[in-house]
Amino acid sequence: MASSFGFFQVPSPENETVRSYAPGSKEREELSLTLQQMQSVKVKIPMVIGGREVFTDEQVRIRQPHKLSHILGSFSRGQEKHVEEAIKEALIAKEAWENMHWENRAAIFLKAAELIAGPYRNKINAATMLGQSKNAYQAEIDAACEMIDFLRYNVHYMTEIYREQPVSSPGTWNRMEQRPLEGFVFALTPFNFTAIAGNLPSSVAMMGNVVVWKPADTQIYSAHVLMEVFREAGLPPGVINLVFVSGPVAGKVIFSHPDFAGIHFTGSTGVFQQIWKTIGENIQLYRSYPRIVGETGGKDFIVAHGSADPIVVATAISRGAFEFQGQKCSAASRCYIAESIWPQVRERLLQDIAAFQMGHVDDFGNFINAVIDEKSFDKLASYIDQAKQDSGVEIIAGGNYDKSTGYFIEPTVIVTMNPASVTMCEELFGPVVTIYVYPDDAYEKTLKLVDGTSVYALTGSIISRDRYAIETATEMLRHAAGNFYVNDKPTGAVVGQQPFGGARSSGTNDKAGSKLNLMRWVSPRVIKETFVPPRDFRYPFLDK
Ligand code: NAD
Repeated sequence: MASSFGFFQVPSPENETVRSYAPGSKEREELSLTLQQMQSVKVKIPMVIGGREVFTDEQVRIRQPHKLSHILGSFSRGQEKHVEEAIKEALIAKEAWENMHWENRAAIFLKAAELIAGPYRNKINAATMLGQSKNAYQAEIDAACEMIDFLRYNVHYMTEIYREQPVSSPGTWNRMEQRPLEGFVFALTPFNFTAIAGNLPSSVAMMGNVVVWKPADTQIYSAHVLMEVFREAGLPPGVINLVFVSGPVAGKVIFSHPDFAGIHFTGSTGVFQQIWKTIGENIQLYRSYPRIVGETGGKDFIVAHGSADPIVVATAISRGAFEFQGQKCSAASRCYIAESIWPQVRERLLQDIAAFQMGHVDDFGNFINAVIDEKSFDKLASYIDQAKQDSGVEIIAGGNYDKSTGYFIEPTVIVTMNPASVTMCEELFGPVVTIYVYPDDAYEKTLKLVDGTSVYALTGSIISRDRYAIETATEMLRHAAGNFYVNDKPTGAVVGQQPFGGARSSGTNDKAGSKLNLMRWVSPRVIKETFVPPRDFRYPFLDK
């Protein structure tokens, strides 16, 4: 790998080991202490523009979704002028940043990984638990481990991209350099994963680009910790600028700026489609064709063949549908279960759900916490109410909700006779799963249904002990999921192991946590050098 005076190799990436937080462990004790400390103060969170902390008069309160009476602090709401400033600062920072040797960029992000693995681990996990209502384990696999993995693996992939070079024929030398994009990139991030929120700006910056980052309002607490980490790791001012404005305010300034070079988005399908349309309408304004990368919604499935172990199926549903209250883009939300095994799956699933505890994040016995905000709570409640009225639909578990102290929705299982019923098709994004029981002899017909029911194609799984059934599902569902699982739940993709993303209305499938994604943030330049150039225009065939 070329630098001025050496070909460097980055450390081989490895997935961060997940801590268990088992009772009596030191890690549990330390995390509990951090949770207490962070609840005993009120934070005042600034935007970060050109490395400066920017406070405004409009302070928006940050509450814990599971404990609404407790205010964690506030963030400074910005306006259009802050987005304009963020773009200006990004463009000022650009030249020095893109000319920095790659190994120094790599070192900054590798250091960020180590900071999260060590001194910031409890803080980032606690911020994610308190602000986004994740239990300790869900926070650990997201805010700590996945974020660390993104940083370490992306540095490795960056060097792989740089290393790939064209062949050269005798007398010439062909070289390829991976230029950062001209202009700035907009990172627009969702509430549900701290790691995604951190990856979208950092992966782009790693490739030498400058970024304006707008997180979801409900993820700002952990975004603030990430920004502290980036700064401590040595990220220069202006490379990533963090603004807290509404989506439309950001969009208005950014999508009409001539230097807009790309968007790295994760969030809902409707928002992404609107953004794409706006970019299309404004295309003549831009200096380059903007890169549009978006990972969006899902309606993820589990298909259980008649040969499946009912306990494996029930466990896949319990974890796949309800962990983090079903607020994962990959969460199982429609299940197709063979009639012959349904009674046993049902029995075990109901036992599991009866054993779930729901409540605050600081009680480690709680498997289920709150949904993110009132809007989401109300939307889920209305789907549940509708299901109670629909014919051919039965709620066999949950169905209650209460927002008096926190946004709590009971894990809910709907059984439907109609595979096209609304909760089999639409993304609900909460702890609600719908089950359709199919006749064992209608397996292939059911696979067709799975493929055709939803506009999404993010994740899905087949559970079976019959290899023919697995092969049939793998083929018939080729385009129904960008991440397909065999005998597993459809959630829990690990960076470096299962690059993540879906097709159809689920996104551009640029596979976060892989080389494919990083390729979108560079614009290659090919240089051909001829050592002894020709001195006569005539080719031999012209000779008499
Ligand atoms: P969201 O679409 O509501 O918000 C995402 C971001 O867009 C936020 O920062 C939000 O403020 C901003 N935004 C909202 N409206 C906007 C507008 N009109 N203009 C510009 N910006 C706007 O999504 P969310 O609720 O934060 O996250 C949940 C969604 O994300 C789900 O649909 C889920 O499936 C999806 N998701 C997908 C993946 C994936 O990899 N495919 C991963 C995580 C989440």
